[in-house]
Amino acid sequence: MSKIQNKNLKLAIQKEGRLSDDTLDFLRKVGLDFESYQQKLFSTVRNFPLEILYVRDNDIPNYVSSGTVDLGIIGQNILNEERPKVKKLLNLRFGFCSLVVAVPKESTIFNLSDLTGKIIATSYPASTRNFFKKKNVSIKVLPISGSVEVTPVLGIAQAIVDLTSTGSTLALNDLRTLANIYDSEAVLIANENVVTSEGKNILLTKLLTRFKAVLSAKNYRYVMMNVPSKILPKLKKFMPSLKSLTNSKVAWDGLISVQSVIKEDFFWETIEKVKTLGARGIIVLPIEKMIV
Ligand code: AMP
Repeated sequence: MSKIQNKNLKLAIQKEGRLSDDTLDFLRKVGLDFESYQQKLFSTVRNFPLEILYVRDNDIPNYVSSGTVDLGIIGQNILNEERPKVKKLLNLRFGFCSLVVAVPKESTIFNLSDLTGKIIATSYPASTRNFFKKKNVSIKVLPISGSVEVTPVLGIAQAIVDLTSTGSTLALNDLRTLANIYDSEAVLIANENVVTSEGKNILLTKLLTRFKAVLSAKNYRYVMMNVPSKILPKLKKFMPSLKSLTNSKVAWDGLISVQSVIKEDFFWETIEKVKTLGARGIIVLPIEKMIV
């Protein structure tokens, strides 16, 4: 069995669970080349000085804060709940979910204040207490480690606080959402000393550049199109990446060929505008990495 190299950066990720597949996909998109299969405890990345450790996600904050590993990927929800002494470096744009307060569909509880004096079951006791304290509603918290959604049927709680993404587990258990406590996604965290430690800090900067290149690319599309040259000044107003375009050649029929990137959030809006202005032959491509 190969050994972990101490001079390498160490990254802990969830071994088995909801974040595992998306985390592995993300690391591969970054261009890291490593093996991963069920029984593996750690992998050495072939093309970057990085070791990947596969552990339980609840253990990741401790491993990172104690320096057992330099980096970790966990849900923001764990940071909010446990407030470990680690540095958050990046939002990773996957593993989206929300921590919500939910009550049985037929319940007469419609406002948070209706929960005064009631029992709320949750695996997120600290987040629940903070939320209700801020709302000035006094409740009792029943900490539960799993299957929180069955507690109202069992009669041991009148409401729950749990993570949800599609809402299907809540619906399946005849629960309705009363309030959103916070939204969460996967985040990259680091040991506080790694950021300042000589040697490792250089590796970390390189790794972060790669992570950010993939994250930026995910938010943009590459667009090629033919546009009448006379509309170029108008195009430049809402396609900032065209601003530097000055001497493009007229291809034919008064049309010039331009390329640009469009932010995903404004994609359809922008495409509709350029079409109205006379753009033709619009081709859209995904971007693999974007180094800015
Ligand atoms: P697991 O331990 O496999 O249930 O994974 C839990 C982690 O996945 C949480 O800490 C969240 O960050 C994330 N997650 C994403 N969507 C959900 C969801 N609908 N329910 C629970 N966890 C979720």
